[in-house]
Amino acid sequence: MPQDSPKPPESHDAVPTPQARGEHFARFLHRDSKSAPMGAVFAPTITPTSLYALPGDPAGAHQYARWSNPGWSALEAALGELDAASAVIFPSGAAAICSLFASRLRPGERLLLQADGYMGTRVLAEKFFVPFGVQVDLCSTRELASRSFAGYRMALVESPSNPGLDLVDLRTCAARAREHDCWLVVDNTLMSPLGQQPLALGAEAVVYSDTKILNGHSDVLFGHVASRNAELIAGVSEWRRVAGAIPGPFETWMVQRGLETLELRQERMQASALALAQALAARGGPLEVVYPGLPGHPAHALACAQMQGFGPLIGLTLPDRGTAERFIQECRYLRPATSFGGLHASAECRARWGDPVPGGFIRLSVGCEPPAALQAEVLRALDVVLGPPPAAAAGSR
Ligand SMILES: *Cc1c(COP(=O)(O)O)cnc(C)c1O
Repeated sequence: MPQDSPKPPESHDAVPTPQARGEHFARFLHRDSKSAPMGAVFAPTITPTSLYALPGDPAGAHQYARWSNPGWSALEAALGELDAASAVIFPSGAAAICSLFASRLRPGERLLLQADGYMGTRVLAEKFFVPFGVQVDLCSTRELASRSFAGYRMALVESPSNPGLDLVDLRTCAARAREHDCWLVVDNTLMSPLGQQPLALGAEAVVYSDTKILNGHSDVLFGHVASRNAELIAGVSEWRRVAGAIPGPFETWMVQRGLETLELRQERMQASALALAQALAARGGPLEVVYPGLPGHPAHALACAQMQGFGPLIGLTLPDRGTAERFIQECRYLRPATSFGGLHASAECRARWGDPVPGGFIRLSVGCEPPAALQAEVLRALDVVLGPPPAAAAGSR
């Protein structure tokens, strides 16, 4: 059962200083260092069970394992800390998003989705909620800034969008959504709670695919919802309990373990991604780089104000699909895979999924490789498929 929504601590400003962020994560890592009783196990435990002892009238914290598990409570407390909210975990990001739709939307009500957001969210809404009478409208990230939320029960947005990496001002959206009793839900998968705090910016809820950077080891699917709204938390908890969209004890334990290194991994990825994006932009030649951390990004100022770091994803456009595929194959430190936020750098041509991007557009997810080694290898592979960079051709490299 979810706890009452905790009050956000003082340090939970919308854009905390690097020092405040460091202290928050240090506190997070040591959250039970002193409160544990003598002989307690510090490592997270796994409780694989379907039954709990339940004689007589039902009572107590644990009655049936579709309703609760000690491992869930431990992970929910940890995830909740990171957003200063209550968290409810699910077996995937998609299940977490579904819980929000199912618990909030009724026939005749309207849902606003991002046209350039995660495709699975739109498919879920259109295949399973539209037939039940929910009206779904689409709006691009760029149009969101001036979009009215009047008449919507819920709007689900992502900033930066993926794979386009467009940004929207979340504080402004949240304020306008509140005027119309529209729940602004931010899918914060790309940035994690360490890279962006949508609840502090006024959003009603955040939803995550923990499959990505939160677990970070590319070995489990998982998701969660976090919110300071007790009604919302009760709704998604009830949905999980009744619909049975429950995480397994073992996966729960794996995510708990992965989460402990989130700060370390994310700092490395973001620093490496920024340096790589700068190197790609400096290289020149027939390529285009999109990264919110580059001063040339149209929303760079907003990125600096709203995010802490710029995320692990770089958009790299090469002249055509064939060149892009050859580059991914040539580069020894890129896994050809879909997904992002894992320890290993990965890349794919998004055109293969029908995204409205040029054939040569690559979504490149920077991992935890030693940054100089990754950068040198990416530049080497580019030289192989594109020929030497303009500066080298002019004799200055
Ligand atoms: C991957 C992803 C999802 C879906 O998560 P799963 O864990 O694959 O179910 C939802 N939103 C975003 C932004 C994602 O990247």
